[in-house]
Amino acid sequence: MANTYNFNAGPGALPAEVLQEAQEDLRNFRGIGTSILEISHRSKAYEAIHHEAQQLIKELMGLSSDYEVLFLPGGASLQFSMVPINFLTDGKVAGYIHCGTWSGKAWQEAQKTGQTLVLASGEKQNFKQMPDLSNLNIPKEMAYVHLTSNETIDGLQCRSFPDTGHVPLVVDMSSDIFSRPVEASGFSLIYAGAQKNLGPAGVTIVIVRRSLLERIPEAIPDILSYRTHVNHHSLYNTPPVFSVYMVNLVLRWIMKQGGVQGMADRNQQKADLLYHVLDNSGGFYKGLAYKDSRSMMNVTFRASSPEIENKLLVELEQEGFMGLKGHRDAGHLRASIYNAVPYDHCKALADFLSDFQKRNG
Ligand code: PLP
Repeated sequence: MANTYNFNAGPGALPAEVLQEAQEDLRNFRGIGTSILEISHRSKAYEAIHHEAQQLIKELMGLSSDYEVLFLPGGASLQFSMVPINFLTDGKVAGYIHCGTWSGKAWQEAQKTGQTLVLASGEKQNFKQMPDLSNLNIPKEMAYVHLTSNETIDGLQCRSFPDTGHVPLVVDMSSDIFSRPVEASGFSLIYAGAQKNLGPAGVTIVIVRRSLLERIPEAIPDILSYRTHVNHHSLYNTPPVFSVYMVNLVLRWIMKQGGVQGMADRNQQKADLLYHVLDNSGGFYKGLAYKDSRSMMNVTFRASSPEIENKLLVELEQEGFMGLKGHRDAGHLRASIYNAVPYDHCKALADFLSDFQKRNG
């Protein structure tokens, strides 16, 4: 693994210390003589991990006792369906903020369950800018408002969250959870696939306000009901044990780095390095997102021509920079600089991009 720099969009980089600790536990979990992959989800050893991870999530997010933390399989994509199946009921309408590829997918899925309304859209700006969320017109009786806080493919991140009053705010935080402090009391449900900022693929974190559970219809399948999972402390069926174990290690690591504020300070410095190179390249590179909407997690950009881009991608790979080719649907370059990506790796990438420009500009 020496001399490689991981800029993959997901699964993304994991902290080196965490990978090292997990290696030992794969052979012999904390000295109990069996692998972490082999322990029962009903064992005391697993229960301790499960509860510690739930507690750390509450602590890092600053959650009151009104919230429950769940570990569910099915990826964030399952949440695109679970949210409307649980809450788009009684003939109500759900509001969607359409700000990029993933919020578009969430909205599409919701339409299969009930009626939706797009409250704000970035389509006119070609999803290069977050729509204005400061003055949304939200009917009082709406089922919920859904927002994607960071659009992983388009490289957009919302700077502030809308005030939705009594209407529950549901946020997909898959690609920026724990990257910065947020005011948790403004959210009714948060979901995030772990594989970007929190651990390996296989588990999705769901944080749900308890008062919302009353709205869930009895008639939906148990496995799809948040109430079932809350009632069983997220141990209704076999949870993704290894993924939860890894998430717990990453949460401990975030704590050691100074919590979410520590992450935010570091993430800002990392993002600044890369955007500085793009902005000072005299047009050789072009950042795709408008400056007021730029993501601190996914830096999307283009080089001066398709030929130069191809050459750049080849050289990046040769030099050990992994994962810079943008999403298959988007066709640009993208550096994903999640929590675990070290500052030094971003510096190495920024230096390489400047040097490449000197040689090819
Ligand atoms: N939402 C966002 C913001 C994402 O970035 C992704 C995946 O990259 C998803 C949802 C879908 O996640 P999953 O592949 O875990 O279903």
